[in-house]
Amino acid sequence: MVLASPPADDGASALQRMLGDNVITTTLEKMWNWARSWSFWPLSYGCNCCPIEMMAAGGARFDIARFGYEVFRAVPRQADLLVVAGPITLKMAPVVKRVYEQMPSPKWVLAMGNCATSGGPFRDGYSILPGADSLFKVDIYVPGCPPRPEALFHGLLELKRRVERGEY
Ligand code: SF4
Repeated sequence: MVLASPPADDGASALQRMLGDNVITTTLEKMWNWARSWSFWPLSYGCNCCPIEMMAAGGARFDIARFGYEVFRAVPRQADLLVVAGPITLKMAPVVKRVYEQMPSPKWVLAMGNCATSGGPFRDGYSILPGADSLFKVDIYVPGCPPRPEALFHGLLELKRRVERGEY
């Protein structure tokens, strides 16, 4: 009986045929960033009127769950996104700062509305911080008084793009 010997590259070709387009190679960092960008866990913080729009974003009409961002946390150690919705009063500033510091890294801050961005109509008042960036680095600013839920989504998706690209 005569056995034909297989071509030398037969093993590699068979493997290539078997895997085809079913395998994606990437880096661990890219995979982490992709997963993070689709699963922000926002911390519940709100003051005044902007939080009402943030709450509406979580309701059935606007449905923040479409993007995977609906897991609002009441504990900073379980959150990676601080949405500052509304103004920060001088009295609350040390508390908000401490809450931010208790969040694990990597973490992001989104300033929602004119008050969080710059103090808004209370900027020249005696009791309001002139913007969340007086306390910590803000990654995304969403202007408006108040911004609609769609504007919040726009800010979240812009943050998603940055996190996905590792720009943080
Ligand atoms: S930006 Fe306007 S809507 Fe938002 S908290 Fe300030 S005053 Fe209220």
